[in-house]
Amino acid sequence: MSTQTSQTIQFPYKRTLGPVIGRFFSELTALRIVGIRCGDRVVVPPMEYDPQTGEQLAEHYVEVGPAGTVVSWTWVPEPGPHHPLDRPFAYALVKLDGADTNLLHVLDTGGEDTVSTGMRVAPRWRAEPVGRIDDIEAFVPGETPEGPTAGEPADVRTMEFFSTITYTDVLSPTLERYAASMRAGVITGQRCPRCDRVFLGRGYCSVDALRLGPEHEEALPDHGVVSNYTIVTPTPYPGQKETEPFARASVVLHGDEMVVSQQQIIGVPVADIRVGMRVKAQWFPEAERNAAEISSKGWGTVAGFIEGWVPTGEPDEPAEQFMDRVF
Ligand SMILES: [Zn+2]
Repeated sequence: MSTQTSQTIQFPYKRTLGPVIGRFFSELTALRIVGIRCGDRVVVPPMEYDPQTGEQLAEHYVEVGPAGTVVSWTWVPEPGPHHPLDRPFAYALVKLDGADTNLLHVLDTGGEDTVSTGMRVAPRWRAEPVGRIDDIEAFVPGETPEGPTAGEPADVRTMEFFSTITYTDVLSPTLERYAASMRAGVITGQRCPRCDRVFLGRGYCSVDALRLGPEHEEALPDHGVVSNYTIVTPTPYPGQKETEPFARASVVLHGDEMVVSQQQIIGVPVADIRVGMRVKAQWFPEAERNAAEISSKGWGTVAGFIEGWVPTGEPDEPAEQFMDRVF
């Protein structure tokens, strides 16, 4: 069976809400739902402009609901990670009492056979509302809202959220073999018979456009020399776990031109890292080695197998020989 790996990229966003949606979200923190008057109708959620004419609307807010009537719905039998509930639920259009438009929201009834068009529902509020649409966790059957006691509304002007995308890969046969050898603690490279360059898990020579297979594979040393490095001073941002300056280094595997880049140098203060320093791989314990960070979109990587590189204490290679290199 082929190995699948996945990588998730997450971007934080912060956006301003404007006066109208800002008011709507502010009211949610006090467990109130408001619409806006638009001619003789009440539009929920409130909009800044008349959806028919584009005319700007006066900020005349009207409290609606909190109970309402299900106008339409669709059942979600197998929720995915991006869904608001982790159990089967319905997306429903709910016409809140006093509103003339429908609010799209989540309906938590326990089963598909307990949902019906025309049923009465009320919000189940989040325990600590923050001023987002999911302050209403879901609508539930009945007339009575569930949740905490209403407090004073907060002044909500911005909204923060994470946008997430997950890539799933099936490893190529080359990467499968590479991952298997890395699990066993051996770095296996593919040497191009024409140019003698060595590649990790790529399956071809990118210089000669030559396919590389098992016959071109050989074990590489798991020790080498730091050929360059950068010291990164971390700034706080979502997802940043580092708090102290750290180094990312390129390591030329000894006796070869193969470079592994973006490597962690461990067991030495960052100020003591030098070009020419001899290092050896510190492998994760065998049971912890994994191919999760390998992607068919890029080159093979040692992350997931090698924790970092530790100085061997041997005399440095002359730094000058690395000065005219990119990596
Ligand atoms: Zn080549």
